[in-house]
Amino acid sequence: ALNFNAGPAALPEWALKEAQNELLNFRNTGMSVMELSHRSKDYEAVHNEAQSLLRSLLSISDEYEILFLQGGASLQFSMIPMNLLQEGQTAYYTLTGSWAEKALQEAVKVGKAEIAVSSKENNYKNIPVLDATSIPSDAAYVHITSNNTIYGTQWKQFPTGLNVPLIADMSSDILCKPLNMEQFDMIYAGAQKNLGPSGVTVVIMKKELLERSSDSLPTMLNYNTHAKNNSLYNTPPTFGIYLLSLVLRWVTDQGGLEAIEKKNELKASLLYNEIDNSNGFYNGHAELDSRSTMNVTFTLNSEEATKSFLAQAKEAGFVGLNGHRSVGGCRASIYNAVPYENVERLAQFMSDFRKNY
Ligand code: PLP
Repeated sequence: ALNFNAGPAALPEWALKEAQNELLNFRNTGMSVMELSHRSKDYEAVHNEAQSLLRSLLSISDEYEILFLQGGASLQFSMIPMNLLQEGQTAYYTLTGSWAEKALQEAVKVGKAEIAVSSKENNYKNIPVLDATSIPSDAAYVHITSNNTIYGTQWKQFPTGLNVPLIADMSSDILCKPLNMEQFDMIYAGAQKNLGPSGVTVVIMKKELLERSSDSLPTMLNYNTHAKNNSLYNTPPTFGIYLLSLVLRWVTDQGGLEAIEKKNELKASLLYNEIDNSNGFYNGHAELDSRSTMNVTFTLNSEEATKSFLAQAKEAGFVGLNGHRSVGGCRASIYNAVPYENVERLAQFMSDFRKNY
């Protein structure tokens, strides 16, 4: 399939084949990795490999904890304020799309949370500028969504000059390019786009933030529980973490994040060039300086043209090109694992469709 799904999304074929090869007999254990005890040495090696590959790909220092949690990025929308937003403090959210809105909605259930800046009036077509001086120095944290999966926008330069912790939901663009982890106090991502299958959520957070969590929190919702137990307090999603380790090996073998970034830019430019050279036949949703390299969102001139485009694309074997139900139109998700050739085929299809329509 020519898979352009937004998530769960295409995974590297190498990782899936490797998992297939060792599915029934994992590294001479005579069992599937799914059948191993999460307390066994064999599983522990997988768990620790996933952590250490992430640490080296993102150059994460010992100041940060790497956690493998469950509940998706959505549970982080609640856990973040529950653990990090203290009485008398305010958390600030940048509103850049539906996921950012959801994160804010959960925060106001827990404590005081406000909008730092928003591009909602512009139908989330751009990433607004966050003025660091507008954030009081006693704020709990600032939350951003690094890539807006539904609208196809992405932060190009992260906020600087903040005197408070910066937290980013990187669910749809983690590992798409090198990252200066020092800019962040916490990042998190549901795995099902650039990291692996759904079921595991990666949280990378500064150890000093752990001091904020109150002992009165439910055990499973307290970051300290997971940090103290190497994310093995209860049964982790072992198969998901195993696949994560394979995806991270694949990313490393590709040449790491610099190489991945180059490939992602080439892939994205194939589609954006087609949009820009179509004389208005295709209209990109995102403003030029906010365009995502992960989710390319566009509409056609009419409802009818959009319908016809999607129907013919489906016929031609393209999967997942429908825009999110809240914005309509089309969206091509071109995460790390989507092969360059598949994006080339989509660009060609867009060009042919335009000429024939
Ligand atoms: N944040 C972003 C940016 C997303 O794209 C998504 C899902 O697509 C979520 C959060 C929600 O993630 P989950 O389904 O893992 O809760």
